[in-house]
Amino acid sequence: TPAFKDRKFVILGLARSGLSAARALVAGGAEVLAWDNDEGARAKVADIATIADPLLSDLTGYTAIVVSPGVPINRHPIADKAKAAGIPLIGDIELFAMARPNLPPHRVVGITGTNGKSTTTALVHHLLESASIPVRMGGNIGLPILSQAPLPAGGVYVLELSSYQIDITQSLACEAAALINLSPDHLDRYDGYEGYIASKARLFAMQTGKEFSVFGKGDADTERVYNEVLARRGAEYVHLADPQLVTGQAEWPSLQGPHNLQNIAVAIAIVESLGLTEAQWRPAMRSFDGLAHRMEVVAERKGVLFVNDSKATNAASTAPALAAYPRVHWIVGGLPKTDNLDECIPNFGHVVKAYTIGEAGPLFHELLSPYMPVERSEMMGAAVHSAAAQAEPGDVILLSPACASFDQFKDFEARGDAFRAIVEAL
Ligand code: ADP
Repeated sequence: TPAFKDRKFVILGLARSGLSAARALVAGGAEVLAWDNDEGARAKVADIATIADPLLSDLTGYTAIVVSPGVPINRHPIADKAKAAGIPLIGDIELFAMARPNLPPHRVVGITGTNGKSTTTALVHHLLESASIPVRMGGNIGLPILSQAPLPAGGVYVLELSSYQIDITQSLACEAAALINLSPDHLDRYDGYEGYIASKARLFAMQTGKEFSVFGKGDADTERVYNEVLARRGAEYVHLADPQLVTGQAEWPSLQGPHNLQNIAVAIAIVESLGLTEAQWRPAMRSFDGLAHRMEVVAERKGVLFVNDSKATNAASTAPALAAYPRVHWIVGGLPKTDNLDECIPNFGHVVKAYTIGEAGPLFHELLSPYMPVERSEMMGAAVHSAAAQAEPGDVILLSPACASFDQFKDFEARGDAFRAIVEAL
């Protein structure tokens, strides 16, 4: 029987994941009431769903309200409405979990952490694919898992999971779940840093039997969660992945830098838990291509390297990018998430000059001026042109914003694309 037969769902938010959820639910036999504040988004499901605002609808008889991870459920009125109606708020990942009994035998990998999620997810996908295992990648990495064709028996679904997604997932027991690292992020959505950590830890609370849990060695908070899970489930199933035990990194071109050692260590633990041998994963490390917008070299001109690290949306993820090169012209800014750049301070010695963009301009000018020359460029184009005019052969022009992008761009991809386009037009 279809997974969602004769059930009724509400969908709030019709961007990528919401749209895929609407289609999967209707294909699975459900009735859907859908809403998005944007009329264009609503139009996309008008032929398969009832369009109505759930805040103004009677929700008696509905199984769940599917919200996109972008809906701030800690302060959105839909949370009160759901509570009053006694209906859970779930996400597309939970719908996937609900549909699992209908899929051919398979395993699920869930990867979370403050930084390195996409890299580790793409790496695990690549290592499994290289071992000829049928594999799909989805979740936060930007590919809704419900929009992808199901795998044949023996397949593995590799999911990148943000804390927002975990918050709206209740029953995903991953055969292998990983927490790479923890540092303060998204504090506007949580009851302090502890609330954020608790959100990540729920990924492991959903594991009930003989599933495997992996933790990246490197910070005290991740190790604390490791110890809690270890005490509950036992050493056979719970592993601390130590970056210092990784050998051979120098031969893996797309996995350079100390931060990638952590991602590699976690990825190895995951694929070995799924049965891969070192003879299988080691040669595949070399052929990993990396990801766009993450330390991505977009051009080299007159001895100057242009690197797009637009995905670095907080100071912790920018820090290793600064550390990777000796002479950096640093394009930084956007919509700041905190009032400091503390994690980057140890690497300020690598910066020749900073060029601030976006709303962070005044704040970052003040924060950085004691350490380095700072130019208030405001716009990406001005920053790239100015940096290109001042850089000497051997220098690196690095976009690593340490900020969200929404003040000037649709998302971090659009910001990285803008950088690349401006570089290419130089
Ligand atoms: P996420 O998906 O968690 O945002 P990505 O793999 O896309 O992580 O990497 C985002 C940014 O974080 C990149 O700019 C990269 O330089 C940095 N980064 C990647 N892995 C790590 C790590 N393990 N620790 C700290 N920073 C990292």
